[in-house]
Amino acid sequence: MHKITDISMEIDVLDENRRLAEENLELLRSRNIASLDVLGSIGAGKTELIIKIAQKLKERGLRPAAIAGDVTGKDDFERLTQNGIPAVNLNTGKECHLDAHLVKHGLEKLDLDSIDFLFIENVGNLVCPADFPLGTDKRLVLVSVTEGDDMIRKHPFIFLNSDLAALNKVDLLPHLDVDDERLEKDLISIKNDQRLYRISTKTGEGLDELIDALPL
Ligand code: MG
Repeated sequence: MHKITDISMEIDVLDENRRLAEENLELLRSRNIASLDVLGSIGAGKTELIIKIAQKLKERGLRPAAIAGDVTGKDDFERLTQNGIPAVNLNTGKECHLDAHLVKHGLEKLDLDSIDFLFIENVGNLVCPADFPLGTDKRLVLVSVTEGDDMIRKHPFIFLNSDLAALNKVDLLPHLDVDDERLEKDLISIKNDQRLYRISTKTGEGLDELIDALPL
């Protein structure tokens, strides 16, 4: 059971994170950098989505960059940089989410004068990141059809605390016993004005519509 001191410590941590998130957002906006926190489980396709959207932003004359958050390693960081996206790698150690303090240090390593759009790829899960805003314009939650059709109802808080939701790998739907309409109904029951963007990072389906919803 929680002691009162534990609870107040938790509130302090969340308050401090919110304060730093506001500072990050202020800094990014002062440099005219739009920003997106990308959330989703391991394997949902976060890195691939960032790569595909970044390509399309470049075609529009924008300069994307990314912060890659992972518990350990630099696999995503390497994929991003190999695809021509300037990136910073942030390892959280044992923590299962990025926080605004880590992101603040990530921002110090980026050349903010040469960026128009910043992606932050959060650590892969749909639980821990919910309470930790990073200071981005918007948060996008990505789920994929291969995760099953109960992913949204099992993780209501992350959807409540986000602005956009997308369902990836819809090209695989004909091969799976997954009810995509159930995912959509679950999302609407959590946030009744929310749209579930159906996309495929493999075929490119739905990406332009999702980009239209980004804070460009
Ligand atoms: Mg990734």
